[in-house]
Amino acid sequence: MKQPSAILLCVLAFWAATAMIVVVFMLGDDTPDCTPAGSTAPTSTTPATNTDTVLVGDAKPAPAPGPVASMGSRVWPVAPGSYEISDVFGSRGGSHKGVDLAAPAGTPIYAAMDGVVAESGPASGFGEWIVLDHNDNGAQVGTVYGHMYAQDLLVHAGDQVKAGQQISRVGSNGESTGAHLHFEVYLDGGRLTGGHAVDPVPWLDGASAPSGQGEAAKPVAPPCPTTPGGGVDNLQPGKVPPDFEPWYRKAGALCPQISSSLLAAQGRQEGGWSPDGGAKVTALSETGAQGPAQFMPGTWQSWGTPVDEQGNPTGPPGTGDVHKPSDAIMAQGRFMCHIAEAIDGWIASGQVTWSGDRRVLYLAGYNAGEGAVLASGGFPSGHSDYEVQTRPYADNILAMEPEYRALV
Ligand SMILES: [Zn+2]
Repeated sequence: MKQPSAILLCVLAFWAATAMIVVVFMLGDDTPDCTPAGSTAPTSTTPATNTDTVLVGDAKPAPAPGPVASMGSRVWPVAPGSYEISDVFGSRGGSHKGVDLAAPAGTPIYAAMDGVVAESGPASGFGEWIVLDHNDNGAQVGTVYGHMYAQDLLVHAGDQVKAGQQISRVGSNGESTGAHLHFEVYLDGGRLTGGHAVDPVPWLDGASAPSGQGEAAKPVAPPCPTTPGGGVDNLQPGKVPPDFEPWYRKAGALCPQISSSLLAAQGRQEGGWSPDGGAKVTALSETGAQGPAQFMPGTWQSWGTPVDEQGNPTGPPGTGDVHKPSDAIMAQGRFMCHIAEAIDGWIASGQVTWSGDRRVLYLAGYNAGEGAVLASGGFPSGHSDYEVQTRPYADNILAMEPEYRALV
């Protein structure tokens, strides 16, 4: 685990509730992600959609949202435009006690109201969590923030916080497979003091956007490069099935960090097509991954789209055919570019330390989630899967990659 840098632990000592001056600290660790071309949402910088499992907690049924008072006192926990809702309150048979706001790892998280920190630390299923207690015009209210990493907890139990104060950053810790904030709201008490969970979305209706104090808000994402985007179409003709070949050529050119030969070797490793040149498409792996690029269903929701002849998306994320070479391989390329940009940013900011071939980390991010790279500050560590699965995955692909390169 990396040590957090001192500047990132900086907590605002003062708060001017009426200040109109937005203080923007350029910390340099915000990696501009890109928005897939053709995406309907200009803000969909979302990485792999989370599939966090049921979080521990009481299973009281959720009542209808209660009356809402003093709207001005509420602030969105993640800046509008920097997230998309990846799971709703009450899903998973009613056991999902919050809303999932998918956003790139590192996106600032803000306190939703003035209050006191009841807990800030590890919690089963949540990775690290922060529990806040609030007094909403005399009513006891609680909010909960989950899946962060320990180095991103910016407040401690007992601290007073102000609405809109940055308290943490989005992570993918605990029972989560993609960066998101799991956010809960409790009425008639807090999370730990007998409150009952309600749907956070109507509760937040009318809430104001955080002012961006503490850290710079994520910059508006530039569009992903369309072909050619600086990547290399270096695929040797005839090395992959004919119906796959044009798509590896297009996808490999999407960004400078990847190449057609890399994506083809990755496709080979993923087992999406047989090595004898047949076009056999694996329907399902043991883990539920699908199609020639072996997308998990939740990840496909963020990256899968239909594409036109040039490989440009023609529909919103989550559509398209995960089994179709065109849709799957272009999504593979876009997702790899997203991971590469994130990891390059973390290396630039010192959050990840790596001096070798960065493709090792990009591939590890594809296999284990880029959040695992961030959490480990390098190649994912701390879980046996990383040794027996992720490491050979990356090594095998890089060993095979030269076979797919055109002879120069
Ligand atoms: Zn959740």
